[in-house]
Amino acid sequence: MINAGDERETIVIADDDPTIRAVMRAALEKGGFSVVDVDNGELACAAFARHQPAIVLLDVEMPVMDGFKACAEIRRSPGGETVPVVMVTGRDDIEAVDEAYRAGATDFIAKPINWPIFGHRVQYILRASHDYQQLRRTEAKNNVLLDAMPDCVVVIDADDHVTDLIPGTFENPLPRHPGGIFAVTDWFPEKIAKAWCKARKSVAKNGKPVSIEFAFDDLQGGRSYYETRFAPYVDRHILAMVSEITARKRAEQRIRRLAFYDNLTGLPNRQAFRHQVDGLLAEARKDDSRVAVVYIDLDNFKRINDTLGHTIGDGVIKAIAERLSKSIRRRTEEQDEDDIPTGVARLGGDEFAFAIHDFDDDGVLRSIAERIGDQLRKPVTHDGHEFVVTPSVGISVFPEDGECVEDLLKNADVAMYQAKDAGRDSVRFYSGTMSIRSLHGLALERDLRKALEDDAFELHYQPKLELGSGRLVGAEALIRWQNDEGEYIPPGTFIPMAEESGLIIPIGDWVLREACQQANQWHQKYSFAPRIAVNISSQQFYQSDLQQTVMKALFEAGAKPSLLQLELTESILMRDVGKTIAMLEYLKNTGITLAIDDFGTGYSSLSYLKRFPIDALKIDRSFVMDLEASNDSATICAAIIAMARELNLTVIAEGVETVSQAEFLQAQDCDQIQGYLFSKPVPASEFEQRFLATSETHFALESAGKG
Ligand code: C2E
Ligand code: MG
Ligand code: MG
Repeated sequence: MINAGDERETIVIADDDPTIRAVMRAALEKGGFSVVDVDNGELACAAFARHQPAIVLLDVEMPVMDGFKACAEIRRSPGGETVPVVMVTGRDDIEAVDEAYRAGATDFIAKPINWPIFGHRVQYILRASHDYQQLRRTEAKNNVLLDAMPDCVVVIDADDHVTDLIPGTFENPLPRHPGGIFAVTDWFPEKIAKAWCKARKSVAKNGKPVSIEFAFDDLQGGRSYYETRFAPYVDRHILAMVSEITARKRAEQRIRRLAFYDNLTGLPNRQAFRHQVDGLLAEARKDDSRVAVVYIDLDNFKRINDTLGHTIGDGVIKAIAERLSKSIRRRTEEQDEDDIPTGVARLGGDEFAFAIHDFDDDGVLRSIAERIGDQLRKPVTHDGHEFVVTPSVGISVFPEDGECVEDLLKNADVAMYQAKDAGRDSVRFYSGTMSIRSLHGLALERDLRKALEDDAFELHYQPKLELGSGRLVGAEALIRWQNDEGEYIPPGTFIPMAEESGLIIPIGDWVLREACQQANQWHQKYSFAPRIAVNISSQQFYQSDLQQTVMKALFEAGAKPSLLQLELTESILMRDVGKTIAMLEYLKNTGITLAIDDFGTGYSSLSYLKRFPIDALKIDRSFVMDLEASNDSATICAAIIAMARELNLTVIAEGVETVSQAEFLQAQDCDQIQGYLFSKPVPASEFEQRFLATSETHFALESAGKG
């Protein structure tokens, strides 16, 4: 097998004993070698240089140059580094053996030579040398390959120590390692090291390759991504090939950004949100926890868009998005990292949402939602404009409000509309009855819109009389809706709907215009004209430019502001004190008078009222109604009247139906009354005919035509 080639392999033998040389030659030639023999070390070196033999056998003791020197010389000569050199030494000469190895000998053969196996021995030495050469060539080749490879190749032992490492040609370097043999945990941050050890174990156990990805933040603050493939290696070692995939990752991220993120705000989009919630629901099903979907819609955002254009609208959306994601993120830091694993998403237009997983109770949700409200309410300045944007928030909770993302989103949306209905800028939890209500609301809303277009509303007027004198001092304008069948639908039914849908704004505008026109018309026609009171809902107050609407209505009708009174509810006053006072002051300065309607049903105290520039106070009908039956009501009425006196407010009692109620009120020094006792609200023509087109200006309490 050694002589597989055409040419026989050459062996150089050097020994000063001619007998030994002759026997060696015979044995080796028999084994198929061609033999060159010499009798000293110097000649051996010369023979090596000339013949480049496959193997050299050197006697130790030789004249001119001994075997050790010759061995060392051959090793130094060209081609001599790898040739097997065998020393032939005395059997017990241990020192000689050591020196032979030091001189670079490959092996040794002891004298006296065991001739029957001598030829075989040489052949084995030669074969081992061939294998060794082969191995070295392979290794050299591998090293070249590895050096040229971009990947970092790491050998890890069964104790998770790196025993070998070829760094690869990374653009973004891996973390620095201690060098030598070192633990994986000494190389990577804890999380990555853990992933490596886990992968190593899995490969060791199953013998199958495993891949993991990890990211690493370099000192420059850049983030690089890596993929590592773990594969079985030798001796229970595992090979880990680390390739850098930052470029690929960035491309993936760009694609994901396009697919899952909102262009304008950079927040996750609806699709991403669904994914997020899906993931949370899966977890919640496993550990029996809850997931809340919080749906946020900005109140009246459409107005900003419509009046100031989309560029400004977009700017406001961006600012709001930033605030939202900040206020959610801050919470994430306060709490466990897993508490809110999803970010705020923009679902479209002015709608945002986020999910909360595993919260203690609904109070937590409410306080989060409210804090978001606080964040959003702070004015946004954009392009020289200042905006106050309030959110309406709806919340639905898995499992009770829905099993899947779609249902939770839908129901949170329903709850959000409920929040809008409740006057906007509020938070509502979903409850099963809501969807039915909102469906009902939809039909009514449609009808209301139509009524507005068809001019199907009208105002009725209810007189206010001065107690004692019976003088007509004013009238309250009350809206009526006559449906297609000609029936009057009471405002108690449709005003709340109009408020929920935002339609109260155009409806309220219409009421103001109509009332102003009527007031002016009567003022022109009759020497005396009653002051007309108009009800203002809280949305009109906060969400429209009420000052402007009122002034415009007066101006267009040509009516004096003193002909108009505005009836506001306590809830308006409670909302935003600073803003309310400023607005009321403005209105009052024009000559309009201001009354608090339904007083006593809200939570405000009389002393609280001191802060507001109001003129009159209307005692709620419920107290007047109970006057005879309930001592409490009588006490309350008396107290309200007495304190209103102190505050210099005119007191008007609503819903006076009986003479005895009127007498009680008069005894308490109440200023005015309004109620069925004198007259129900009546159409303008009837009001004019009964109370204006007559020579009377003072009336008996029980009107002839009260019906
Ligand atoms: P309100 O402002 O407190 O109006 C007084 C309500 O009491 C009126 O009901 C009136 O018809 C009723 N009323 C007056 N005297 C008596 C009485 O002696 N007995 C009884 N039982 N009721 C009496 P109406 O017209 O149904 O209006 C209900 C509510 O709807 C009003 O309460 C007001 O809050 C609202 N509303 C009416 N018109 C408008 C409007 O144009 N704009 C706004 N925003 N709200 C309006
Ligand atoms: Mg009223
Ligand atoms: Mg009232």
